[in-house]
Amino acid sequence: MLIFTHPACLQHRMQPGHAERPERLAAILAHLERTGLLAQCRIVEPERATRVDLTRVHTPAYLAMLERRAPTSGLVALDPDTALCPDSLEAAARAAGAVTAAVRAVLDGTTTRAFCAVRPPGHHAESGAAMGFCIYNNVAVGAALALTHSGIERVAILDFDVHHGNGSVEMFQDDPRVLVCSSFQHPFYPGRYEDVVRPHIVNTPLPAGTGSDAFRAAIARDWLPALEQHRPDLVFVSAGFDAHRADPLAELELDETDFGWITREIVAVADRYASGSVVSTLEGGYDLAALARSVGAHLEALAD
Ligand SMILES: [Zn+2]
Repeated sequence: MLIFTHPACLQHRMQPGHAERPERLAAILAHLERTGLLAQCRIVEPERATRVDLTRVHTPAYLAMLERRAPTSGLVALDPDTALCPDSLEAAARAAGAVTAAVRAVLDGTTTRAFCAVRPPGHHAESGAAMGFCIYNNVAVGAALALTHSGIERVAILDFDVHHGNGSVEMFQDDPRVLVCSSFQHPFYPGRYEDVVRPHIVNTPLPAGTGSDAFRAAIARDWLPALEQHRPDLVFVSAGFDAHRADPLAELELDETDFGWITREIVAVADRYASGSVVSTLEGGYDLAALARSVGAHLEALAD
């Protein structure tokens, strides 16, 4: 398995005390090192996503606004939760570049499984707006690239972050080649595009307090039949771990065994339809210890 990560992803830093902080990535990498998982993987440092890659899902006006507003010192707020520091666009370009590099590695047969250990996360970013800690929609950039490949007719984006993947739904709501499945605490942030219902848009709202059994039942009820119907040629994962019971931002009651379970279900679908190909990218997860253990469980299941 390949792990795509870049030192620039540690340089994006918002205001002190912000939950989406560089220590998240450091905790993950330290845990993978300590458990020996890192030794079973190859680390790759990605190039930046290109403008061509980004404009498949983001508007030129949005990209120009980011360039114009990027500060040379201090922070510039893009929304109440999301800010640019001088190093943010470099980090964001490497985060999206990690997913495009992972897609290319899968498509050229270098690997079947890839995990992008990156930040800032991406799934809230819409075509023309930064939101909820996200600047570029990393997984969407990767999915749009994959669809330019002649062998890839359909893909799936499976998003088990505790927050709804509004950006991915917004970008692909009119593109039936992309199955977007998102499970999320409801009602909860961000409350956009969560009532879009189409055969290729599967929203799975979960009430606060939802635990392991109800979560697994909802995924089995909503996602697995949709995946059987869609038969994706490549499977993407928006891997957020903030539905963990220890997470400070949300109120679902999952633990790392649930993330291992859903990953095994995803791998089984990929094995049936996508020659085993899975490109997973980090979204949320804000309790450092729970996040690190959860990523460990995810990667163990991906590596099997
Ligand atoms: Zn989240």
